[in-house]
Amino acid sequence: MTVPMTGVEVMVPRDVPLGGPRAMRVRRTLPQRGRSFIGAWCFLDHYGPDDVAETGGMRLPPHPHIGLQTVSWLFDGEIDHRDSAGNHVLVRPGELNLMTAGRGISHTEDSTSATTVLHGAQLWLALPADSRDTEPRLDHYAPPPVRGPGWQARVFLGTAFGHSSPVATHTPLLGAELMLATGATKAVEVDAAFEHGVLLDVGQVTVEGAAVAPGELVHLPPGRTTIEVTASDEARVLLLGGPPFGEAIVMWWNFVGRSHDEVAAARDDWQAQVAGGRLADGRFGVVEHPDAPIPAPDLPHVRLKERR
Ligand code: MN
Repeated sequence: MTVPMTGVEVMVPRDVPLGGPRAMRVRRTLPQRGRSFIGAWCFLDHYGPDDVAETGGMRLPPHPHIGLQTVSWLFDGEIDHRDSAGNHVLVRPGELNLMTAGRGISHTEDSTSATTVLHGAQLWLALPADSRDTEPRLDHYAPPPVRGPGWQARVFLGTAFGHSSPVATHTPLLGAELMLATGATKAVEVDAAFEHGVLLDVGQVTVEGAAVAPGELVHLPPGRTTIEVTASDEARVLLLGGPPFGEAIVMWWNFVGRSHDEVAAARDDWQAQVAGGRLADGRFGVVEHPDAPIPAPDLPHVRLKERR
């Protein structure tokens, strides 16, 4: 639904099973038909709150990535992250863990045994052409809460609410969590060169007058200096932004590339590493996990198309 006067577009999620025996389900708002990006943000899965006793929680054995960065942003629960760059961290609510895949990384993500409720978002950022082959790494940052009347924010990437994240980015970005009390309104000052997304996690809000339901993602085009969010019921949103990405990408499975052939080569490299049913060393490195690595699905019979 687009409100013509303001360019504000409310996008509805689609329900996607992640696979596995008990199949944790997510609400995917990016990419979708008609929109592949908000700035460099190119993927957004929102999940929970899920009772882990029912869903089995998150269990992601070794799998590869190239050409992107991942953010696991939690509202509740705890995830054990291990990657082939040698990092082992616990992902906790309100803390940024930005994994840069660059030229190739493999990692695992498992909700911990202490987790009873799992609730959060999995986000991907496309790396621009000049840094997409960078070294794999992990950046951790626990942003302090910034408060005002009826609201509290945590800025994990970029600058907003008077706070700047120290984490370096490859394109200008905004990533923040905003909580609003019932009846509160916050006019968030934003960069007019950015397009923005507002994901409603819980509660009821209007964004620039447009009513939003939980799980929906609002898109706002560049050209505005404020975004007004009003909560009619206690609410939490994720605020994302960046200048329009401006590069075409080919996105397939866990890979962001620039051509079909590049993605097919990454798939071949991964399949060579998992051929023995255990993860052998190679381009994506090695990460330890009790489960076998996840083999890549078959490529489609048609050539992968670019997204803009
Ligand atoms: Mn992953």
